[in-house]
Amino acid sequence: MIPYGRQNITEDDIDAVVEVLRSDFITQGPVVPRFEAAITAHTGAEHCVAVNSATSALHIALLSLGVGQGDVVWTSPITFVASANAALYCGASVDFVDICADTFNMDMTLLAEKLEQAQAHGRLPKVVVPVHMTGRSCDMEALDRLRQTYGFRVVEDGSHAIGAHYKGRPVGSCAFSDLCVFSFHPVKIITTGEGGAVTTNDPALSRRLASLRSHGITRDPSEMTSNDGGWYYEQQNLGFNYRMTEMQAALGVSQMTRLDAFVERRRELAERYDHLIRDSDILRPVLDSNENLSSWHLYVMRLKDDIKPLERSHLFDKLRLDGIGVNVHYIPVTRQPYYRRLGFDPLQFPVSESYYERAISLPLFYDMTNAQQDQVVKCLLAPRGYQTIF
Ligand SMILES: *Cc1c(COP(=O)(O)O)cnc(C)c1O
Repeated sequence: MIPYGRQNITEDDIDAVVEVLRSDFITQGPVVPRFEAAITAHTGAEHCVAVNSATSALHIALLSLGVGQGDVVWTSPITFVASANAALYCGASVDFVDICADTFNMDMTLLAEKLEQAQAHGRLPKVVVPVHMTGRSCDMEALDRLRQTYGFRVVEDGSHAIGAHYKGRPVGSCAFSDLCVFSFHPVKIITTGEGGAVTTNDPALSRRLASLRSHGITRDPSEMTSNDGGWYYEQQNLGFNYRMTEMQAALGVSQMTRLDAFVERRRELAERYDHLIRDSDILRPVLDSNENLSSWHLYVMRLKDDIKPLERSHLFDKLRLDGIGVNVHYIPVTRQPYYRRLGFDPLQFPVSESYYERAISLPLFYDMTNAQQDQVVKCLLAPRGYQTIF
């Protein structure tokens, strides 16, 4: 099976993890700050707080902005469920803005309309969570203009997008947001096994994130209300154990040295897909422009609007039988039984529904060979009766 995604692990990665295992610290010691420094060096953000997953990162990012009961958080339906669940963990409610048909990212025109209505009803969101779907940045300048008009905060779900660039800046720079979250799950651009991080330029938010990551406890005498002795620590907030281990951080430091190479090869493969299927009636994703350079976490092809019912699932099943590990990203969150019980109706988000009925993620990973990619394309086009180059 050619998988849809796969990590790249070198001997250097393995040595880095083993070195930590032989050292004094195996959780949140000196290597976690080194990993955080590698992320700030890449993104240009002032601060980074590494945690045990992007899901945890989203949770504490929202909490650090004061999201709680009575607040509303908006995201888009085409995302992993964690983007929306994080708001519910905080006791807030969640709502969705439909996507753009061509970029799969939150549609800023629909967002502007929804904000106008929300203002009229006194129900403006506290936070908007744009998802950089497939690794391509949302239109952050348009979002920033709306943020200035309506006063909400912005947490980027950049789980797909470490290594991507928007208007000349790395995603994670937080030039147009309060916070940006990354995921280091094995299918993502770099991996720590499980892991996540939040970047920000706000020192107060960074301190809050660090506190929430570790039970709300401080050992810094300058922050404590009293001091009973050398053993003393204080819990000042209700936090969590969301710490990253030293093994994860060491793998992360080692992986970060190859970030540019990872993205470059992914881009090459994406352009190659574009070339190989250009003469078929398959819809291809938007390619990079100078303004918007994707990290190419996913290559999502779509069947045309007028497909017959079940055509996508037939093609999907056929490709799986052929040993091609295709996938679908994502089932709209609004379709999930849990979200239907909260009152969402998928028909409220017709662009997401239409996308979902026609999308297939083709395999794309750093170690994928051109020959494997040719095999994917051959299996994809053969049953559809296209002239291929093979
Ligand atoms: C992977 C992913 C997450 C969750 O990341 P974890 O590190 O697995 O918790 C959240 N949002 C999006 C868009 C993702 O792709």
